[in-house]
This record gives sequence, structure tokens and C-alpha cells, in this order.
Amino acid sequence: MEGDEKSVRRDENNLTELYATEHREVVRDSLSRALGGPYFPITICSAASFAAEMEVFMSEKRLKTDVLVVGGGFSGCFAAVTARENGAEVILAEKNYCGKSGCSHFARDFMLFKEEWGDNFGEWMEQFSKIGEYIADQRWDELIIRESYDRYRDLVSWGVPFYIKDGSSNVPDAYGFPPPEEEPFRYKLRSTKYRKTSVVTKYAVRHKMMICRKKVLSVGASILDRTMITDLLKKDGRVVGAAGFNTQTGDYYIIEAKAVVIASGLLSFRPAYYGVWSSNGEGITMGYRAGADLSGMEFGAGMYVCSECDSVCIDGPVSDITGIRDVVTNGRGEEFLDVGPHLPINILWPIEVHKGNGPIYHDAYGVDRNKFKKELDKYNETAEGPWIEMLDRAGIDIFNDRFEQYMSFIGSMFAGGLRVNYSCETTVPGLYAAGDASGTNFTGPTYASLGSGMCGACVTGHRAGLNAARFAHGSEQLEAEPNDLAALKERILNPLERKSGFRPDRVLMRIQQTIFPYEVRMVMHEKRLTAALTMFEFFRDHFIPMLNAADSHELRLAHEVRSMVTGAEIMLRSALFRTESRGWFFREDYPRRDDKNWLKWVLVSQGENGRMNLRTEDVPKEYQGDLTLPYQERYPVTYGYGKGGTI
Ligand SMILES: Cc1cc2nc3c(=O)[nH]c(=O)nc-3n(C[C@H](O)[C@H](O)[C@H](O)COP(=O)(O)OP(=O)(O)OC[C@H]3O[C@@H](n4cnc5c(N)ncnc54)[C@H](O)[C@@H]3O)c2cc1C
Repeated sequence: MEGDEKSVRRDENNLTELYATEHREVVRDSLSRALGGPYFPITICSAASFAAEMEVFMSEKRLKTDVLVVGGGFSGCFAAVTARENGAEVILAEKNYCGKSGCSHFARDFMLFKEEWGDNFGEWMEQFSKIGEYIADQRWDELIIRESYDRYRDLVSWGVPFYIKDGSSNVPDAYGFPPPEEEPFRYKLRSTKYRKTSVVTKYAVRHKMMICRKKVLSVGASILDRTMITDLLKKDGRVVGAAGFNTQTGDYYIIEAKAVVIASGLLSFRPAYYGVWSSNGEGITMGYRAGADLSGMEFGAGMYVCSECDSVCIDGPVSDITGIRDVVTNGRGEEFLDVGPHLPINILWPIEVHKGNGPIYHDAYGVDRNKFKKELDKYNETAEGPWIEMLDRAGIDIFNDRFEQYMSFIGSMFAGGLRVNYSCETTVPGLYAAGDASGTNFTGPTYASLGSGMCGACVTGHRAGLNAARFAHGSEQLEAEPNDLAALKERILNPLERKSGFRPDRVLMRIQQTIFPYEVRMVMHEKRLTAALTMFEFFRDHFIPMLNAADSHELRLAHEVRSMVTGAEIMLRSALFRTESRGWFFREDYPRRDDKNWLKWVLVSQGENGRMNLRTEDVPKEYQGDLTLPYQERYPVTYGYGKGGTI
């Protein structure tokens, strides 16, 4: 790697040292500022004073590398390590701090398949196909299932501990680094009708991503923290790098790279569901602007959140800990779900509300929580665990209180992203994608198996890193046109120069007010989708060109908001395009699955004059299941108009 080495850390040895080094650098930076070095008071300067000083104080940094990885979750860490181990120079740019951000930080379960431990490949594939309602890409399913073991072994070798099997069905006490032939602790979800084959592995530590960070650094890849990538550079139809800025210092970055891996997570709109806050789809939308195809963008997920304190409520773990089925009732006190949690629940809840039977309540387990203290403490060790504490603080005891919940729209979780082939190449040469940012269609319109998000991120990250490194070896570095670079810099930084306009936090509020209501993106209808789309067209044409930012922190939000507006438009147009219902994708005006017309994937690309082009690709015949089966047998999960009811 050439360029500015100062801001790049690569040689930390252990976690304590990692934190200490980080702290020292912050202190050193503040000292140099205080002593008159390059400085601008990020948090207090106004847009006007910043604009005046920007020329003087904001430096431009140019770096060169073989492979640039955007995002430092599981997929980014795997891409960086694999590319580096395959001989490429690697820079990983992370807009937060690699090791403490992204959905990966919160994930707990890793899907792990091994025939020698009694897993049946045919059954697993059937589950993916059925839950994916026959539009899951089964080649990807096979790759993710089969490669899960190798990626699990990678994690063990990096130092991520897993629970050790001890014969109990609850999480055991011991965890560590099982030898290759020894099965770690695995479990399958209780009370689920369609997930018999889903087994997952739990691991304990909250700082697992710091262990991944350490691995990235130990192989000699470089990490640029607090560096937000906003745009890709192109030359002769190829991606040749990316541009962005440091969200704290405001330094502007041009990173020339022979290949770029987008590993920047999903597209969400900062819902109450924590964990997805930093995933605002910049990677997906910058790929789209660079000409890459997107796939699966009509799909999305909801997650349950407590209405009283906006805390996530992942009640599966408490059900697992207590062994008691969690009961959800509607406003009339009736149980309304036909089948166990996790599969259809995400869409059946908003449908129940839409029928006028809301709100939705979680019933008390009615047990003494002290009996489960040990298991709860273990669960609270994970990053996602503290939601029980959050409820406690709000005065809600999940064991003994009935409380109200709602389904919060999470965005493209588990579903859409940059269309990739099985080498994780997008449709633009030099551009790769992995993890939640990639559109593999591996899970179709739902979530096929607990643990498959994390496992999928590791598998696709590895594949993207390997193939990006190979591409880089066989390619010359092309330089972007200077005129293009100048225009790009102007476009990226111009919210800082604008003295008036629209503040990104206000625009964020408008976005959320438009996309979050259940009747827009969960219980969908042409009229409501069109109404929301009209608003997003207005945001696109009126707010986005006039965003103003007072400092580099707001500049970050401005680019996140820009990405959300483009992403929402893509999602709404894709949802309007698919005129049927499937999995979690529910159209009130087309409530049945339409096998005749919709065993297809929806692809979106940017056409002439910036127009969005939508088209379909047929799902291969061999993925389509038995088309002679009666509807009710083919789709046992119905859209539940009343218990036992069907559409
Ligand atoms: C609360 C929660 C619990 C979960 N639990 C599980 C589980 O138990 N098992 C499971 O399999 N899955 C789980 N998931 C899903 C799983 O975490 C994800 O599928 C997986 O971690 C995705 O990894 P990723 O690397 O693709 O994305 P992420 O981990 O989201 O990483 C993306 C990174 O890119 C960075 N980034 C974004 N934009 C930019 C930009 N413009 N420039 C630079 N950097 C950028 C982000 O800051 C982030 O660090 C959970 C998700 C959440 C939110």
C-alpha cells in the first residue's frame, strides 16, 4: 500500500493493546490540534465558517491498493483476510470502528452443517427451498450450507470461541475452541414447524468482532476507521477505486484499487431495532449508481419491538431458556398465529393489526426469573442480549408482564442487494459484493435458517475476497479521469459549503415517517406504495440536492440520507413491480402466490438519464418445486386471516 500510512493501523498485537493504541492515537491527534497542527473544531464550527476554512484545513489523501473492502463486519473481515492471504494488498474502510459496528457485532448464532454430525443435506436444502417459497437460489444455498464448516473453522482459528457440547439442551457453561472433529454445542429452535433441520452454534463473547479485527491486522491488511466511502470511481467501464471522507477529521480520501468489495451491510432507515443503525445502504446504492444490477430489493423484514420502550424483543431466546412457548395475542386476547414463531410472524403481526385486531401483546411467561438467572447472564454476555435489561429498565418484566409490541420495518435485511454470481462478482467488472450488501437470493423472501445471516456473510466474504484478489492480480491499476475526480469531490463535499438548505436530520425524519408505517412496506397496496413513492421522488428532487451539513459528522448523515432516499425508491418500485405475495412479501391487492407469473427474480439497474429499469429473470425450473401440488400443500404457511384461514 502506498500513501498515507499514519492513519492506518496494522500492527497491533492483542486486544488490550488494540484499545490502548486507539486511545493513544486519539490523544495524539487532539494534542496536535491543540498545538496548532491541521485542525478545525468539528463539533462547533458553523457551515459558513467551515466552508471558509475547508480549503485550508481539510486535507486530501490519496491511497493505492489492490483490493479495497468497504465495511468491517463479518463479510468485510473475511474478504480482507482472504484477499490478503491470497497475495493482495488490502485496505478495509469502515465508517465506524471495525470491531464494534455493523449487524455482525450483534449476531449470536452461526448456522453450521456437517454430515458427520448427523445433518442431512437433502433435508436442509428442502428447508431452504420451502421457506424460500421456491425462489431461493439453491446454488447459493448449497454453497452456504456446505462451506459453513470451513468458515466456522476459520473463526475458531482466529480465536472466536464457541460453546462446547455437554449433552444439555440449554447453553452449556464451557466454551472454547473445539478440535475439528468435535461437534460444538448446537441447537435447533423449539416450537417451529418448518425448521426441523436448522441447527445453530452459539458463541459467547461480546468482543468477537474485535477478534476479527485483530485477524485482519495480523495478516497485514490495513484498516481505515471512521472512513465513510460514498462513491465508486470508474474508468473504461471498470470500477477502479472509491472516494469518501473521515467522519471525524473531515479528511477527503481517494482510494485507487484494482478491485473493490462492497461489504457494507443492508439498507435500513434507522428503525427502533438496534443493530442495523449503521447500515443505510450506501454500498448498495453506490454500486447501483456505478451501473451494477440489484436483486431482491422488493423484499424486506420486520422485527418485533416493545412499544413502550422501543427495545428489540427477540423472544426466541427466553423461550429457549425457559422451555416455555412464547404466546402472542391480539387486542382481543386471542392467539392468532397458526404456526410457531420466526417464520411467518413478521408478516402475520402487521396483517392482524390491519384487520383491526391490534395491538399485539406478548404474554407473560409466568415463571420466576430467578430460576433462570445463570442462562440469562450467559445470554446477556452477547451483544444482542441487553434487550432484556432494557425492558427491565423500562419497568417491564418479560417473565411476568404482558406488554405491547409492534413490528418495525428493518429494510432489506436478509434479502436484497448487489446482484452477484457465485464468485461474488457484481455485473460491473472490478466490483464485488458480500454479506448483507449482496443480492444472492439465497433466502428468498424470508429468512431460511437461524444463523444463516452470519454464516452467509462469512461464506460470501471469503468468496468475494478470493476472487477480488485474483482479479487484482490479473489487472492493471487504471486511474480515474481528473475531471471526474474533481466533479466527484465537489459533489461529495458540497453539503458542507451550502449555507442554507435542508438539514439531514430533518430529512431523516421525513423518510422515517414515510417508510415506517406498517401499511406502506409490510401490508402493501399499489395505492399506498405509489403514494410513498411520490414522496420519495419529491425528497430525491427537492431535499437531496439542497442538503446542508455543518460538519463532517452531519456530512456523514447527509450521505446516509441520500442513500436511503435512492434505496427507498428502489424498494418501492420493486415492490410495485411484483404483483403477488410470497413469504414475508405481502400485497393486500395480490394476496396469493402467483406461480404462473412470479417464479422470478426482480432485477433493478440504472438506465439512461438515471431512470430505474426493472426486469425479471426466471428462477431455474429445478428450483421451482412440485408445481402439481395443491396450493395449500405447497404453501402451508398462509397469510392467516383468522386461525386456520388461508389466502
Ligand atoms: C440485532 C441483530 C442480531 C442478529 N443476530 C443474528 C444471529 O444470531 N445469527 C445470524 O446468522 N445473523 C444474525 N443477524 C444478522 C447478521 O448479523 C448479518 O446478516 C451479518 O452480520 C451481516 O454481516 P455484514 O458483514 O454483511 O454486515 P455488517 O455486519 O452490518 O457490516 C457492515 C459494516 O459496513 C459499515 N459500513 C456501512 N456503510 C459504510 C460506508 N459507506 N463506508 C464504510 N463502511 C460502511 C458498517 O458500519 C458496518 O460495520 C443479526 C442482526 C442483528 C441486527
